Amino acid sequence: MIRKEALETLAELQKKMYAYGVAMASLTLDADTVAPKDTAEGRGVALGILAGESHKLFANKEVGDLLAELDAAKDELDPTVRRQVEVLKRDYDRMSRVPAEEYMEYAMLRNQSGDVWHKAKEKSDFAMFAPVLEKLIACTRKFAAYYDSTKAPYDALLNEYERGINMEYLDSFFASLRERIVPLIHEISKKPQPDDSFLKKEYPIAKQREFSDYLMDVIGLDRSHCTIGETEHPFTLNFNNKDVRITTHYKEHDVSASMYSVIHESGHAMYELGVSDDLQYTCLAGGMTMGTHESQSRFYENLIGRSLPFIQAIFPKIVEFFPEQLEGVTAEQFYLAVNRAEPSLIRTEADELTYPLHIMIRYEIEKQLFGGTLEVKDIPETWNRLYKEYLGVDVPDGKHGCLQDSHWSGAMFGYFPSYALGSAYGAQMLRNMEKDFDVWDAVGNGNLAPVSAWLREKIHKYGGAKESAELVRSACGGAFDPTVYADYLVEKYSKLYGVEM
Ligand code: ZN
Repeated sequence: MIRKEALETLAELQKKMYAYGVAMASLTLDADTVAPKDTAEGRGVALGILAGESHKLFANKEVGDLLAELDAAKDELDPTVRRQVEVLKRDYDRMSRVPAEEYMEYAMLRNQSGDVWHKAKEKSDFAMFAPVLEKLIACTRKFAAYYDSTKAPYDALLNEYERGINMEYLDSFFASLRERIVPLIHEISKKPQPDDSFLKKEYPIAKQREFSDYLMDVIGLDRSHCTIGETEHPFTLNFNNKDVRITTHYKEHDVSASMYSVIHESGHAMYELGVSDDLQYTCLAGGMTMGTHESQSRFYENLIGRSLPFIQAIFPKIVEFFPEQLEGVTAEQFYLAVNRAEPSLIRTEADELTYPLHIMIRYEIEKQLFGGTLEVKDIPETWNRLYKEYLGVDVPDGKHGCLQDSHWSGAMFGYFPSYALGSAYGAQMLRNMEKDFDVWDAVGNGNLAPVSAWLREKIHKYGGAKESAELVRSACGGAFDPTVYADYLVEKYSKLYGVEM
């Protein structure tokens, strides 16, 4: 017989954890958007205390007993509560292995390192970032053992971002992808590139802000529940399914940079806003894993946003925003320009085809860092060498090299592969979606409602109520098959560039 109080305590605990999460996320959002630049210290103290308190709230014996009691009676629980107990118990077992002081230290270190990384990136000075990165790696390695001491450290970290994924799986995933796309990139390099000079004209930022509002409308974001801010590195932050924030980064001489960041982050926001009301303020409220999240953001960004029907549908409106810059340009030319496949230096601005290579480079480096075969001081040299080897480009400085991403400063080691996995999930979801309705007829009319409704039904509404593998299987209409993604890329780009593969 389940005690009524036990269920009440469980609900109350999750609500309190939600409140701590909101407080910490608000500080982080403030830090990244409007806080003056030399203010990290005081915020770090507050974040450290909040992290310590939320750790104490959760990782204590009473919670352990409560979860054990409910777990013992799990057959009597309704499915949503049973799932909450399952997820919380998994977190509890993991968290209770982490000493509170270490947890607090880790939170403070991540806050401090974000600040150091920002400054180091600005100056392209890797040596400035290296000492804190070494500490982060040492600390994360310890945490990897707390998460799962039976696994190699990097496998334990990968599992945090996408459950069930390990180096063996990724090695073969990336190898099969590389085998298909590297020869294609090579063939494309012999072909003339489409003109994209009109994207690089001067696009006033004030106008681009209006354009962002328009794009969010097209995607169907309810602006009374989602706002847009500006940060160095675009991201999405969710408080709950009625309050999500996205950010972008404007470049005066590249209209597509922010355009596709906005569409990408809007995809994340659609996911968070689509989670069922009955999961709010519980551990199941957010999107499932980084892989499933990226499958949604990259779905909107690439599969829809960089498709010809979508560009044709919104192009007249784009011209209304930027009549001078796009004078004489057709929708087809715009489509070719935003799909220009060319090896480049910056991951977030990479085209859809070369993007996975940027991920493979980061994966290789992280694998070696945690495998003990690469030292922090040698990262720039290895990074630059791999960029030359995989993409054929010369890295001029740290800002355009190993200091470009914020992930390592946030100790998010093992995160990058989720981007590539997400893209691959998305391609297969699209093929499955096409069986259910005429996707391109809707998109071609600028109507994304059926697309979003389908994704909401298959993925969004479940939040964390289902495991990632289960969500992916159901949205893909069967077992995940990475060749669908490779086929999609080869088909799209061989047509775009007129090459035969
Ligand atoms: Zn993303």
